[in-house]
Amino acid sequence: MKPCFIDVHCHLEMCEDISKCIRNAEKKDVGIILTQGTSIETNRKALELAEKYDDVKVCLGIYPIDSLKMSDDEIKNELDFIRKNADKIVAIGEVGMDFKEDEKSWRRQEEIFGKFVKLSIELDKPIIVHSRKAEEKVIEVLEDEKAKKVIMHCFCGKKRLVERIVKNNWYLTIPTNVTYSTQFQDNAAAVPLNQLFCETDSPFLHPDKNVKEWKNEPGNVIESYKKIAEIKGMKLEEVEKKIYENYEKLFS
Ligand SMILES: [Zn+2]
Repeated sequence: MKPCFIDVHCHLEMCEDISKCIRNAEKKDVGIILTQGTSIETNRKALELAEKYDDVKVCLGIYPIDSLKMSDDEIKNELDFIRKNADKIVAIGEVGMDFKEDEKSWRRQEEIFGKFVKLSIELDKPIIVHSRKAEEKVIEVLEDEKAKKVIMHCFCGKKRLVERIVKNNWYLTIPTNVTYSTQFQDNAAAVPLNQLFCETDSPFLHPDKNVKEWKNEPGNVIESYKKIAEIKGMKLEEVEKKIYENYEKLFS
């Protein structure tokens, strides 16, 4: 297949006009869009979207905050649901830990996240990880489980943690708000291109900070590619090709 741009993390079901989003993406040569399930409901919705649109690939998971509302049985059923649909998905996600939540929930979050890490290893699929304010703990859990196919989404940890991710041969994403976020500009500079992906987190993280939330869409992923090209002093096509190679390597 000819290289194209890839949005490795978005929430397509939350976007306003999904068909229009897909058309806009195609016009910009964004040919692979990974939509993420975050709950029982959105996991099913993500599978439906992938049936409808060729460019859409599915990741299934439970968002850490949503997972706190679920019983052990419900978590187990969802893990089984993902196992049953393993041939339809490209990765586990969005899963992880979020320490913006009350400290009382942290152990429970760790327990559930550990189950998803184990599942990704069992299915031999990449895992796309949310780590807000829990960056170091998330890395520890992944290291303890010896996870190898790891993508850290919107990683906001300190430089030494970024270095630890690079050393572990994991990947980081550069979201579209890299246009103004110095954290992600620093990540783009510090991480070798063969360990990067780009994402929009649509409908969030619009590249223009004056545009209100819920307006981002997968076609805008090109802004992350442009910023990486600028930071690394490379041609846009070169960045496109290299990240496409990362995709083929990790997701095959
Ligand atoms: Zn997300």
